[in-house]
Amino acid sequence: MEIHDGCEALGLLADADGGTVTGARILPRGGEEQHHDADLVVDATGRGNRGLTWLAELGYQPPVEDRVDPGTVYVSRDYRRTPGETDFAAFISSPSPDVPYGGVAIAAEGDRWMVTLLGVGSDQAPPVDPDGFLTFAGRLPAPELHALLSRAEPLGPPKRMRLPTSVRRRYEHLTRLPEGFIAVADAVCSFNPAYGQGMTVAAVEAMVLRDCLRRGRRELPRRFFAGAAKVVDVPWDMAVGADLRYPTVVGPRSRRTRFLNGYVARLHVAAARHAVVGRRFLSVANLMTPPPGLFAPGIVARVLWSGGRTVPTAAHRKSDAAGEKLLVR
Ligand SMILES: Cc1cc2nc3c(=O)[nH]c(=O)nc-3n(C[C@H](O)[C@H](O)[C@H](O)COP(=O)(O)OP(=O)(O)OC[C@H]3O[C@@H](n4cnc5c(N)ncnc54)[C@H](O)[C@@H]3O)c2cc1C
Repeated sequence: MEIHDGCEALGLLADADGGTVTGARILPRGGEEQHHDADLVVDATGRGNRGLTWLAELGYQPPVEDRVDPGTVYVSRDYRRTPGETDFAAFISSPSPDVPYGGVAIAAEGDRWMVTLLGVGSDQAPPVDPDGFLTFAGRLPAPELHALLSRAEPLGPPKRMRLPTSVRRRYEHLTRLPEGFIAVADAVCSFNPAYGQGMTVAAVEAMVLRDCLRRGRRELPRRFFAGAAKVVDVPWDMAVGADLRYPTVVGPRSRRTRFLNGYVARLHVAAARHAVVGRRFLSVANLMTPPPGLFAPGIVARVLWSGGRTVPTAAHRKSDAAGEKLLVR
């Protein structure tokens, strides 16, 4: 195997009628354009990829794109942590449509707290000035994070990041595709990173590609994109569905999305009382259990039983496997 590091991919090489991709054009840093033959070109250039332009240069229509902008801004700051100063190792105040802002503090190596404040919607962005950052923390429904930041020593200035738009490219719907070319991972679908799904999806897509290759090269792109679409369906519905709970987020709200969001909202209430429900939700959200697991009889019963009640106002202190405390509001 040869690895050509420090090269920019410029485009595709194809046979005379453009029906088969036969290689790639690359530009080594400070060098001259090179052409490399390939049995299969895999566009793994991530969220900002140029695969659509490369296909257009060969005369192919681009795939339809589904887009949802989560409209979420994070502002993060590190603080010095004194071990033992709190009885929790992580604090999470999640945003919701009623309270579209939140905050997270996680104990990190080097005796640090990694603190992130976030807001959903353009008028909810946390400020980047230190005083405004602290004041914003004071708006959270739970007092612990504000109390922590009031006494902890900051280790740098607050830094802002706006979450990128989630984009799903529907390659599986294209009727005309060249042989010898596929796209994977974020080049096919880039999620709202808040849900931490991208790398798992990339790994599962790699397994789909392995299985497709084992069945031969015939119609590989069509078979691969069909398989990848099945991998993407669930995490996309979960991530986009969760974003569409917020009225400020623009995107299509199907009846299915509304039903799932209503059910998951009730499930979160049930999870505050029943650890088994919380564990099942995390298992599905982390793509370890298929979504029907949320509708297992024991889970549905607890969701219905807890559904009419509100989340308890007291913080829930949960212990993880290492006995660390996680404080969830
Ligand atoms: C803030 C943030 C937090 C995230 N947190 C999580 C998380 O907790 N868990 C999780 O699973 N996922 C997370 N993700 C998503 C995860 O990072 C991506 O899903 C994953 O990295 C996608 O892998 P990829 O190989 O498709 O793209 P990338 O990792 O983006 O890699 C693409 C590479 O291609 C290179 N490239 C682009 N164009 C060219 C070109 N023309 N020529 C040569 N090279 C090129 C880029 O420089 C880059 O190195 C997060 C994403 C973000 C933005």
